[in-house]
Amino acid sequence: MSDAWIDINLDAIANNYREVTQHLSPAARVMAVVKADAYGLGAVPVAQTLQKLGCPAFAVTTVEEGLILRQHGVEGIILVLGPASAEQMAEALASDLQLTLSDFHMLREWEAVAAELGKEVKVHLKLETGMGRTGFFAKEWEELAAQLKQSPHITPVGVYTHLARAAQRDRAYTRQQVESFQRGVNLLEQQGFAGLWKHVCNSAAFLDYPDWHYDFIRTGTLLIGHFPATAFAGKLKLQDPWLAKARIVSLRRVPKGTFVGYQSIYRTKAETQLAVIPVGYADGFGVQPHFVPQGVWDFIKIVIKNFLALCRIYIGQESVILQGYRVPVAGKIGMQLTVLDVGNLPCETGDEVILPLRRTQANPRLLRQYWSEKRLIAKRHIKEGFLQSYPEYP
Ligand SMILES: *Cc1c(COP(=O)(O)O)cnc(C)c1O
Repeated sequence: MSDAWIDINLDAIANNYREVTQHLSPAARVMAVVKADAYGLGAVPVAQTLQKLGCPAFAVTTVEEGLILRQHGVEGIILVLGPASAEQMAEALASDLQLTLSDFHMLREWEAVAAELGKEVKVHLKLETGMGRTGFFAKEWEELAAQLKQSPHITPVGVYTHLARAAQRDRAYTRQQVESFQRGVNLLEQQGFAGLWKHVCNSAAFLDYPDWHYDFIRTGTLLIGHFPATAFAGKLKLQDPWLAKARIVSLRRVPKGTFVGYQSIYRTKAETQLAVIPVGYADGFGVQPHFVPQGVWDFIKIVIKNFLALCRIYIGQESVILQGYRVPVAGKIGMQLTVLDVGNLPCETGDEVILPLRRTQANPRLLRQYWSEKRLIAKRHIKEGFLQSYPEYP
């Protein structure tokens, strides 16, 4: 049993999926974006959960991510959003992944490889309308249609674009992007490519532009319980499936005046209990993003904070939650060990604490530990005769 991990509540993800589907336009379906290991929650268990609820399509960034989903029994459409190389083609086709076609180089290479394999490549055409990342520019769309007609092994099944400013107030840019996309769709239809699945909405656009849900909406952020911007908060009843936890691995009673940690920046003010948890900055605990002052007052606050630190007065010290109480970190956070001053709170070794960890900073090890232990526990349960099954983490 490890003593630091991230808990994932799959029921919360299921709730979020249902919330999304309730706000979906009638003709549209959900394409669940589970890239980057489902934003750090575990792509396989998340996709398996959504599949049980009837989610028809999934999106990932790389071919490897798509293959992992297939290996774990995820069915339905899997679209690879990022560029794929010709070397990955055989595997991608064997697993029935759909690929994003976003430049002419890919088109030529894929056609050659697919012809050799005697297989058909299902692609979604990516139109570049203002993200400036991948996709065919408007001036290339005629040529795209012409080349597709000469590529018998490439079968377009979808067409999409990605919005750059959907989470911002500025609606004009988004409108321009979608109008440009629609012109591309019309052009392709005139050239004989009709009936393609169309999709433009990410989470923010899904909430803000119901007229543009088309055939699919691509959402990741909402499924993991976040809103793309604070202005969207409350539009859906989302639940947070993510909680970082650790267990107390050592507990001692110490007298007043005990120094704690590197540089002895902390000294106990009274007799107290010191608890140790096995997490530190290697896990992302206590790691802050670089802070850029937003104006003069912000700058003054930073100066004051640093001045107080010089006087050994520390404000904004990290704390954790123990038995429903906020308890402070004592002294500097270490690489993998952190000390808490838990006062006279009745507690013991093995007790759980909740950590304020930034998701993007959390070490993926914590998550893997969680899922692999679930698997161990599940096996143990099966041995013991319980019919409990937990999803596997790769
Ligand atoms: C990440 C991504 C999405 C999902 O965006 P969210 O805002 O997280 O829902 C959709 N489409 C593309 C192309 C993406 O890369």
